[in-house]
Amino acid sequence: MRVPAKINLHLGVGLRRSDGYHELTTVYQAVSLYDEIVAGPAERLTVTVEGEGAAALTADPAAERDNLALRAAQVLAAHAGVAPAVALHLRKAIPVAGGMAGGSADAAGALVACDALWGLRLDRATLATLAAELGSDVPFALAGGTALGTGRGERVTPVLGREGFSWVLAFADGGLSTPAVFAELDRRRERRPSLRSRPDEVLAALRTGDPAQLGPALRNDLQPAAIALRPALRRTLQAGTELGALGAVVCGSGPTCAFLAGSPQHAVELAAALAAEGVARAVRRVSGPVAGARVVPG
Ligand code: ATP
Repeated sequence: MRVPAKINLHLGVGLRRSDGYHELTTVYQAVSLYDEIVAGPAERLTVTVEGEGAAALTADPAAERDNLALRAAQVLAAHAGVAPAVALHLRKAIPVAGGMAGGSADAAGALVACDALWGLRLDRATLATLAAELGSDVPFALAGGTALGTGRGERVTPVLGREGFSWVLAFADGGLSTPAVFAELDRRRERRPSLRSRPDEVLAALRTGDPAQLGPALRNDLQPAAIALRPALRRTLQAGTELGALGAVVCGSGPTCAFLAGSPQHAVELAAALAAEGVARAVRRVSGPVAGARVVPG
């Protein structure tokens, strides 16, 4: 099972609701950076992790217990009335707490992998309902592609558009806590109220498929809050822009930054220049949109 990371081409944050979540309007795009989830038969529920950020997820028994892939297996088993017996193995490439919804991807992957292992054959709509229970970004990780997310992000509608976009990602040292970034946004809005931005420009750019139009339309209402908590991001974004990116944006709650290139070749050049600049822990080239959670051979 292979599940992609997401970037938010647009992330409009509205008011905080009584349940603690913020109203969101977002345009997600799944990109070709994947976590792999393997589900094997077992007597009981276990999870092992390797790859990007694995240490953070296995640091102590509590971190292991809170793994979203484990929770997904439990929720699915409870729904189907079966024992949650599975050995899950995660090969992570998506940075932990990087704003790219890696945990959500693992949850979506675990849902689909356990459904297959246990022979449940639930339809996608049922899996999507369970996914929404697990987290706001989990239904999109199942669906993939490009989609408009509303509610707290869990209601997803596909956005059509055939063009493929070339992106360069800049990974940062360490993660950012999503609740902390939302709390910082709330604090900033007490001092200076601001409205949720609208996704119209991004949607119009997607209709044309022109990266030169999409670049300047990228927008993330969480970006100023993420920069306030991690001032180094300002330099990373500026470096990408100066090196010729068509657009630069913080992914979700950060700290990963995404830069839009005009072509695959442009992305190669931009990635090399960004890496040389030393403003990121690691630089990756990806493309989007790609499909959501999928079984892969082997
Ligand atoms: P969000 O989905 O809120 O944008 P994010 O993309 O910034 O979050 P994730 O990597 O999804 O970050 O993880 C956020 C937190 O969830 C981590 O700090 C970690 O403690 C916890 N977590 C639980 N399970 C996982 C998992 N399988 N992979 C990554 N993080 C996980």
